[in-house]
Amino acid sequence: MLESAQALITKTAERMRLDSEMIKRLIEPEFSHEFALTITMDSGRQKVFKGWRIQHNSALGPYKGGIRFHPETVREEVQALATLMSIKCAVAGLPYGGSKGGIVVDPKKLSKGELERLSRAFAGRIARVIGVDVDIPAPDVNTTPQIMAWMIDEYQKVVGYKSPGTFTGKPVTIGGSLGRTEATGRGGLFVLQALLKKRANHNSPLQKNLTIAVQGFGNVGYYFAKLAEAEGFKIVAVSDSKGGVYVGDGLSVETTMKCKREKGMVAGCYCRGSVCDLKSGRTISNEELLELPVDILVPAALENVISEKNMKKIKAKIILEMANGPITEEAYEYLSKQGVVIIPDVLANSGGVTVSYLEWVQGRQGYWWSEEEVNKKLEEMIVRAFRAIWDRSVEKKIPLKQAAFEVAIERITSAMV
Ligand code: NAD
Repeated sequence: MLESAQALITKTAERMRLDSEMIKRLIEPEFSHEFALTITMDSGRQKVFKGWRIQHNSALGPYKGGIRFHPETVREEVQALATLMSIKCAVAGLPYGGSKGGIVVDPKKLSKGELERLSRAFAGRIARVIGVDVDIPAPDVNTTPQIMAWMIDEYQKVVGYKSPGTFTGKPVTIGGSLGRTEATGRGGLFVLQALLKKRANHNSPLQKNLTIAVQGFGNVGYYFAKLAEAEGFKIVAVSDSKGGVYVGDGLSVETTMKCKREKGMVAGCYCRGSVCDLKSGRTISNEELLELPVDILVPAALENVISEKNMKKIKAKIILEMANGPITEEAYEYLSKQGVVIIPDVLANSGGVTVSYLEWVQGRQGYWWSEEEVNKKLEEMIVRAFRAIWDRSVEKKIPLKQAAFEVAIERITSAMV
């Protein structure tokens, strides 16, 4: 992951004729904090956990990036994600650099008390190197608003004053932003609609009732599907880790979620309107979902799900990368040559960090906006980000991902003094 992120930056920077020292500045993280945390487990024994906070680039502003708790997290992964945050924040037009944090832990194996002690220990350890104008953490894989609440509480104890802008993704009761939960899915939909409008201007009138398959029915996939359905798109398939459903006439997202909550999985939930009926659809595997003949494919679960193994079977003409890195380099090259339009993750899923930015602004000014205001600002910002990438892509006749990296690198290097 780190090699491929660095290779992409190097390739783009070389095409832009940047000199080798500038490329090094774009590749190397500015700070890499590595530490061991010791907490007392419920058993009374002490246990040591390894963790990192990597601050990649701060040319555009304070570092911004999530914290993940995962048993397989390694330093290289954290560094790669920090690097991609620098690119994503620049693409989104935010006044931020990129960072990421991680702890090697399986949080499902911890009690609630152990999880709280670990979260507080991490916040206490990084307190000296983060801050509202320095580095602003947020949730990532396996970290939640509750964990952010423990972390900011610990941080504020260490520094001795309230600082609601230092962590984002907090519960609304302690300074979180309305609209943050749905922000990534909502932002993806705004980008998709902006793309369809541009294409309609270029080719044919704006099509209605386009079909969509969504892989992943978690925070991102569910809200994307729900909001897209409300806008008139036809969601024909959704899936989770246990498999998916295909409903040719279009499924009801809300009823499908209700059924999933009851059964523990979407498989078997063929729901139209307010009813689920076995005759309305069929169960499909995650592999089949990706290969459906739909207009738009939305991978919103895991990385590398479209690779050399299945790239030739993909039939969608538009892919909206809502997960991080769902398409491998090889598959990306192949599909781009086939004329498939791929909306890159650094743009498609930037709604989350954009509303984190809005949360930071609200925390700093001590004045909180209505959900409507937050959604409106998100739309303005993400559509503006899309237009810059689209224009570069048209002007230089390059795919959107290449255009996104070019625009990001241009913005970052122009702020390097
Ligand atoms: P989540 O944990 O809420 O949901 C993940 C979904 O993927 C679940 O429905 C799960 O069942 C499904 N899934 C897991 N393994 C699967 C498999 N093998 N096949 C198919 N589905 C599988 O996570 P999320 O927050 O929705 O994040 C999804 C993706 O979006 C990740 O790549 C994440 O990094 C990215 N992302 C999330 C946000 C955000 O704000 N939540 C922001 C940017 C990017």
